[in-house]
Amino acid sequence: MPIRIDPWSAAIPKDYAKLMEEFGIEPFESLLDRMPKPHHLMRRRVIFGHRDFGRVLDAMFAHKKFVVMTGLMPSGRMHIGHKLVIDQLIWYQERGANIYLCVADLEAYSARDVPFEEARRLAVDEYLTNYLALGLNLDKCNVYFQSRSDAVRHLAYMLAKKVNFSETRAIYGFAGNSNIAHIFYPMVDVADILHPQLREFEGPCPTVVPVGVDQDPHIRLARDVAARFQREFGFILPSSTYHRLMPGLTGEKMSSSKPETAIFLTDSPEQVERKIRDAFTGGQPTADEQRNLGGDPDKCTVYKLYVYHLMPNDEKLLDLREACKSGAIICGDCKLRAIELMTKFLKAHQAKRKSTEAKAKKLVEKVY
Ligand code: SF4
Repeated sequence: MPIRIDPWSAAIPKDYAKLMEEFGIEPFESLLDRMPKPHHLMRRRVIFGHRDFGRVLDAMFAHKKFVVMTGLMPSGRMHIGHKLVIDQLIWYQERGANIYLCVADLEAYSARDVPFEEARRLAVDEYLTNYLALGLNLDKCNVYFQSRSDAVRHLAYMLAKKVNFSETRAIYGFAGNSNIAHIFYPMVDVADILHPQLREFEGPCPTVVPVGVDQDPHIRLARDVAARFQREFGFILPSSTYHRLMPGLTGEKMSSSKPETAIFLTDSPEQVERKIRDAFTGGQPTADEQRNLGGDPDKCTVYKLYVYHLMPNDEKLLDLREACKSGAIICGDCKLRAIELMTKFLKAHQAKRKSTEAKAKKLVEKVY
């Protein structure tokens, strides 16, 4: 029986609960009893919802083929919010997954104006080098660039035959001045998710796409389209899991374009120290008040660093939570500890990056 931990005050935030009810997302918690060693992000309900993940678990435990599909958008620097997906990929890889990793350079071009050569550089320097250093075995992943995959582009065109403009406009809000590349892009996204099930790849098999809940419209479209092409391809509807997005250190959304909100995997110790010292917390205005009244970890972005990344041990995390609430620890000391742990992690990570850079470059030369 896995250890249960609830690092949150409410089971699931109201806005997430509403989405789950509205769109039929199942709570992930009900699956935990079936899993001997769930990832800490699962135990802590960072991953809180799913669609049809049971069939992926069935395949995993029966040692049958299953696919994990994910992508990276080469348009900015990689931060610790992005790391949360890689942590999941490593967990799946240890359990026999066939991982498909798409470099979304067509999306970066059509939605963010990133030229293809720049997307390639970012994919290698900012993402694949980091993925290798984090421990993902890319030799065992199917890494591809959207712009270079004939299979994805061909499938996207075929699938588009049964999707109309009104449907995509309702989902993505396209306007009269939206460019056609952008309008067509959702079909490339759907083809990314479904193409591993083509006969020339894995054939029909359970597939899971781990996403933030904001990505659910893509998943719903992919599932609808898979159902429309049952006869032609025999697709098994793709499954999905949903994780809470990591909040930025300032309390707003974590974003590569706002460096103060995020810790990048290539940040220096000085940058880490400054960002964590300036981070928004759930502490009281003075140390005395904090000792008397305690802090609120649920409002605290530093506490989220511990939950997501810095403290994989559940008992230690619960101790920290209690110490915060009781006032036994104050924010200054708590931040110092976070700075120490983050600096230690990044130092080791950046040393590994030195040996993975060349490997990432080489790998990209031979991707399909
Ligand atoms: Fe956040 Fe730590 Fe302060 Fe609690 S003591 S509010 S967890 S920084």
